[in-house]
Amino acid sequence: MKYTVVSVDTGWIGELDGEHLIRPNFKVKELACNDGSDVILASSKLLDFVQSIRNIANTNININSFYRTAAYNSKIGGALKSKHKVGMACDMQVPSGLTVDSFAKIVEQVAGPNSGIGKYYKSNFVHLDVAKNGKRRWTD
Ligand SMILES: [Zn+2]
Repeated sequence: MKYTVVSVDTGWIGELDGEHLIRPNFKVKELACNDGSDVILASSKLLDFVQSIRNIANTNININSFYRTAAYNSKIGGALKSKHKVGMACDMQVPSGLTVDSFAKIVEQVAGPNSGIGKYYKSNFVHLDVAKNGKRRWTD
């Protein structure tokens, strides 16, 4: 399946196959909205962060949710101003061998203070967004 990929920070737009490696360890299809739509908005800075997190954790990272269309986001009860809707947020499953806290430390190390990091203990994932709203931290 082909996707139209829009980089929200560099302005790059292109058509890429779902199997294309957009970063060394991440395929285009991993960023797609879970509703099956063929347009993907993605922050290049966030993709760089996710790749760096993967390199430091030195293990495979599963992306639960990256881009979400507005319709899908509201359907699943996402926040009205969710950064997933503009391709600036990524939910990463905690890799095996790590805890939510130890994984979030790696995320913090890579993303720095000007980021949003949410720790979800019940569902075992960490949300990272790169919206320029200053330092935001939360837990479920
Ligand atoms: Zn999220």
